Amino acid sequence: MAIDPEKERFLREFGEDYGYPNAPKNIDELRATEFKRLDDVAYLDHAGATLYSESQMEAIFKDFNSNIYGNPHSQSDCSVTTSDFVDEARRQVLNFFNASPREYKCIFTSGATAGLKLVGETFPWSGQSTFMYTMENHNSVLGIREYALNKGAAAFSADVEEVADHDQPNSGKSAIKIIAHQVQRRSEPEFLKKEATGDTYNLFAFPSECNFSGLRFNLDLVNVIKEDSYKMFGTSPLHRGNWMVLIDAAKGSTTMPPDLSKYKADFVVVSFYKLFGYPTGLGALIVRNEPAKLMKKTYFSGGTVAASIADIDYFKRREGVEEYFEDGTISFLSIASLHHGFKILNALTMPAISRHVSSLATYVRNKLLDLRHANGHRVCTIYGLTDREVLCNKMGPTVSFNLKRPDGSWFGYREVEKLASLSGIQSRTGCFCNPGACAKYLGLSHSDLLSNIEAGHICWDDRDIMNGKPTGAVRVSFGYMSTFGDARKFLRFIENGFVLLPPESTHLDSFRTGAIYPVTEGVDRATARYFLKSITVYPIKSCAGFSVESWPLTRTGLLHDREWLLKSLNGEILTQKKVPDMCYITTLIDLNLGILFVESTRCEEKLQIKLTSDPSILGKEEVEIHSQRYEVQAYGDEIDNWFSNAVGRHCTLVRSSGSQSHLCPNGNKSPRICRDFATSLNFVNEAQFLLISEESVADLNNRLRTKLQNGSRGPPTEVTPMRFRPNLVMSGGEPYAEDGWRNLKIGDKYFTSLGGCNRCQMINMTSRSGEVQRSNEPLATLASYRRVKGKICFGILLRYEDNTEHDAWLHVGQEIYANMD
Ligand SMILES: *Cc1c(COP(=O)(O)O)cnc(C)c1O
Repeated sequence: MAIDPEKERFLREFGEDYGYPNAPKNIDELRATEFKRLDDVAYLDHAGATLYSESQMEAIFKDFNSNIYGNPHSQSDCSVTTSDFVDEARRQVLNFFNASPREYKCIFTSGATAGLKLVGETFPWSGQSTFMYTMENHNSVLGIREYALNKGAAAFSADVEEVADHDQPNSGKSAIKIIAHQVQRRSEPEFLKKEATGDTYNLFAFPSECNFSGLRFNLDLVNVIKEDSYKMFGTSPLHRGNWMVLIDAAKGSTTMPPDLSKYKADFVVVSFYKLFGYPTGLGALIVRNEPAKLMKKTYFSGGTVAASIADIDYFKRREGVEEYFEDGTISFLSIASLHHGFKILNALTMPAISRHVSSLATYVRNKLLDLRHANGHRVCTIYGLTDREVLCNKMGPTVSFNLKRPDGSWFGYREVEKLASLSGIQSRTGCFCNPGACAKYLGLSHSDLLSNIEAGHICWDDRDIMNGKPTGAVRVSFGYMSTFGDARKFLRFIENGFVLLPPESTHLDSFRTGAIYPVTEGVDRATARYFLKSITVYPIKSCAGFSVESWPLTRTGLLHDREWLLKSLNGEILTQKKVPDMCYITTLIDLNLGILFVESTRCEEKLQIKLTSDPSILGKEEVEIHSQRYEVQAYGDEIDNWFSNAVGRHCTLVRSSGSQSHLCPNGNKSPRICRDFATSLNFVNEAQFLLISEESVADLNNRLRTKLQNGSRGPPTEVTPMRFRPNLVMSGGEPYAEDGWRNLKIGDKYFTSLGGCNRCQMINMTSRSGEVQRSNEPLATLASYRRVKGKICFGILLRYEDNTEHDAWLHVGQEIYANMD
């Protein structure tokens, strides 16, 4: 076996923690036999959901195929089997948290969120109550605030900090301090005048592990809040009464379930897909008996009612805590599959899992912190790191970070995510449903947050940098089956893609900033000649186009180019990215006949659509594309049915009605730019024309071949210019000469270059013998040398400038003259 010095160094440092030497299968066997589907994917989103193992699923299927599970509410034998299993599952869940069945109950819910909602809904809120939560909390916890406020309670966000311990001065010991900020109260706090009575209940909520940063809260917080609330909050009448504590353990319990025999939290929520991948849609609320008695439920239902009378206001609830809260029939098959998941965790043991994932996360964190650009500047900012033990019980197996360029500007997290997925690394980006931690760690003020929201930023959009600051982060998180190989693959990706920046990007940068394009060695650019090799028109957006020898130019580009599109019932525009079958729709326009011919292998009939005064046009309507409204013409059922059959889903064909349209390039919200472009585009993505150079494509193919020779896996990829769906293909000169062009003339027609075309996964799709195939190429290779400011550029976008002329045509074979001024 070959020696792997990097792994040896890792094992020297972390060997005691890494892997499962005492389990039936060590980590490499486990991975090779139970997770074959990971193959060469590094799955690093275990904080999002972890993965089920093969034997776990096999055992579940075998179990289901050999047992008869009836409805647990029936009285048959099969139901008795089910209720035995359910009881056993409850015991197992309590056991996982070291919670005594005498002290705690396990209520099954549809997930952690449903458990949190149940607490919010049934908590004994009053006008004297306080709901307090740490800034680091999932949206599903923050939502409890609405129940509290609606019942007149006060809501506070809290920062947990470390201070010197006043009880033991000079001891050097520290203590927990809570700094609370009032969020809101909806009704007048009359009670402040009165003495708070004994039965005021307050709730404090925190996650055992922050799903944004991986920070594990010190669980002493439970006891401090419950026993020392006076010390924490002083004599403020706001915080008097009984404090109950809720732990959101959805993330934390995957490696370190809170020990409820030591930290007697009142409520704990968990979700099972986070523990062992399957089943989804099942979680639990673990509740202490005493607070369970105080919770007030409004709804009664099958499952929760002992007796009720249909036509008078009478019902009697069931006695047991579980029966009181579980509405309807519980998800008994999912519950029956739980023990197959617990079996895996128990075989590995939770302490070993915790050590294993920590070794990987610590290794990655240390390596990331060490990364430096050539100018000595740090590459990576990691969020939530702390070594203060009073606050934090070590970091969990999550690393959240953002990356900087050598000049200190940020890489957008979307760029990192897109490139990661091309490299077979599954990560997650954004704020991870944890807006408080996100704002806190990224240093976003209330005014930053509000101005971003006002500018239209929402959780899952592409605006990763606003006003120079990241709006979220990149998160990698490890699970029990993660390996050193995963960690290394991720680190290599960061090193190669963000530290040793591709040198070519400098010339692309200079092209973007208007600097002079560097003269390519050995070529006299003055003598290079360029010719137009092909013209392609795509009448229906995202469908196949047709090539011609000559074609008329209009002020919207090539005549009839992307004048039509298909939209779904809910108004969404169909594209090949989502509906790959669109590539089987072929088009052809005969200008003399005035007809658009459309064909599909899915439809026997060919379609003919008249270009002028089509009688099948029904009327005008509006569609919205990239926040711009277009006025369009719609067709009748016959044509719509044809297209619906062709793409295999319901859709309608619409045609841009030309001059009345409000048109704006993709994503460009600036009204000024909109006006510049007004009425100069059809349904295009970014510009009127896309120009691709054969020489650039040849260079790309060389690189793809070299990569394959150097042992990269996968089938050979050879791309043709048509892969990029260009309108114009040219030949001549050096590869990427077009990057430096500002103005150009084709024949005697003038064009302006709008810069490089940003490429996406769509160029990785091919169709072979009726099958749509996806791979990582050529985008992965382009990403290695064609990245500019978060984009992967190939080809240039053009605008036709001479729009006063009538009857202007382009012809294949015309010479192209470039101007770089
Ligand atoms: C995943 C998660 C949730 C939500 O859990 P669901 O089961 O999806 O409702 C809540 N809190 C934290 C910390 C989580 O990680």
